[in-house]
Amino acid sequence: MTQATILGAGVMGLSIATELVARGFRPRIIDPAGKPGAHACSWRAGGMLAPWCEAESAEPVVLRLGQDAADWWQGNGAEVTRRGTLVLAPARDRADLDRFARMTQTHRSLDGDEIAALEPELQGRFPRGLFFETEAHLNPRAALQTLRDRLAEQDIVIEPEGTPTGLTIDARGYGARDELKDLRGVRGEMLVLRCPEVNLTRTVRMLHPRIPLYIVPRGEGIYMIGATMLETGGKYRVTVRSAVEMLNAAYALHPGFAEAEILELGSDARPAFPDNLPRLRRRGNTLYANGLYRHGYLLAPAVARMTADYLQTGQKPEFMDEDHP
Ligand SMILES: Cc1cc2nc3c(=O)[nH]c(=O)nc-3n(C[C@H](O)[C@H](O)[C@H](O)COP(=O)(O)OP(=O)(O)OC[C@H]3O[C@@H](n4cnc5c(N)ncnc54)[C@H](O)[C@@H]3O)c2cc1C
Repeated sequence: MTQATILGAGVMGLSIATELVARGFRPRIIDPAGKPGAHACSWRAGGMLAPWCEAESAEPVVLRLGQDAADWWQGNGAEVTRRGTLVLAPARDRADLDRFARMTQTHRSLDGDEIAALEPELQGRFPRGLFFETEAHLNPRAALQTLRDRLAEQDIVIEPEGTPTGLTIDARGYGARDELKDLRGVRGEMLVLRCPEVNLTRTVRMLHPRIPLYIVPRGEGIYMIGATMLETGGKYRVTVRSAVEMLNAAYALHPGFAEAEILELGSDARPAFPDNLPRLRRRGNTLYANGLYRHGYLLAPAVARMTADYLQTGQKPEFMDEDHP
C-alpha cells in the first residue's frame, strides 16, 4: 500500500487524511503550525455547505460534487446544522433576487409572512425571499478539530516538522503558490460578532450589488459575517471599507446587530486556480491537492475521495492534470 505524507492540516489536508484512514492507509501529516488555527484559510471560513446557492456563480460541477458534503461531514463526526439557507434582498435590490432565482434551482419563493415563519425576528423587514431548504452549515473550527481528534485516536497526529516519506500530498493551500504558478489568492474578509439580542437560526444571504453578504449563526449569540471577494492574495488586516460594508449589511438585515460586540476581524487568501475549480496535479513524487477557492468545506470531501481513489486504484481523478508547467 502506498505510503503518503500530507503537507498541510487545513480542511484539504485533514479531509484527505480522514478519507485515506477510512480506506486503511496510515498517512503522515506535517504542518508547521501543529494544529488547526488562524494561520490557515480554513479557520476563517463561514462553513456554508450551500451547493445550490453557489450554483448562482459557480460551474455546475460544484453543485454535483458538493451535494453530499453535509453527509460526509456528519459521517465524520462534525455537527452539521441542516436548516437551509434564506436569501434576501433589500426592496431596492429586488432585481438581484429575481436574478438569483433564475440562476439557481430547488428554492422556494417566500413572501414576508413565510420569511417571518422561518425567522420570526425578520417579521416585516423583507417582502420577498428565497429558501433553499436542503442546505446546511457547520462551524469550521469545530469541524477541523473533530477531524484532527478523530485522526489522533488512530495515532495519526500532526507533526510540526519532519521529512516526508512516500508520496507527498501537498495540501498547503495558498502556501503552495511557490510551486503552483497558476494558483492565485482571492482575499476574503470576515467578522465574528456576539449579539445575544439577535436570534437567527439559519444561514442568511443578503444580496447586494457590491458585497453579497452572508450571516452564519454559530450558536450562543455568535454570528460569522462574511465575506469580501478581492482579487489579491495580499495578507493585510481588514480594511475600514470592508468592515463598514459588512457591518452595514448586517445592520440592514437586523438592526439588533447595532448592539453587537465585534469579537474578530479576520482575512485570508482563498487558494484558486484560473477556473476557480479544485485540482489534483501529479508532478514526480508529489500530488498537489489545491484550488478549493470559496468551496473549501463544500468540495474538500469530494477532492479527498478522488485522492483516496487515486492512491487505492490508480484511477485518474476527474480533476487531474499531470506535469503542468
Ligand atoms: C472569509 C472566508 C470565508 C469562507 N467561507 C467558506 C464557506 O462558507 N464554505 C466553504 O466551503 N469555504 C469557504 N471558504 C473557503 C475555504 O476557507 C478555503 O477554500 C479553504 O480553507 C482552503 O483550504 P486549504 O486546506 O487548501 O488551505 P489552508 O486552510 O490555508 O491550509 C493550508 C495549511 O498548510 C499549512 N502549511 C503551509 N506551509 C506548509 C509547509 N511548508 N508544510 C506543511 N504545511 C504547510 C498551513 O499551516 C495550513 O494549515 C472561505 C474562505 C474565506 C477566506
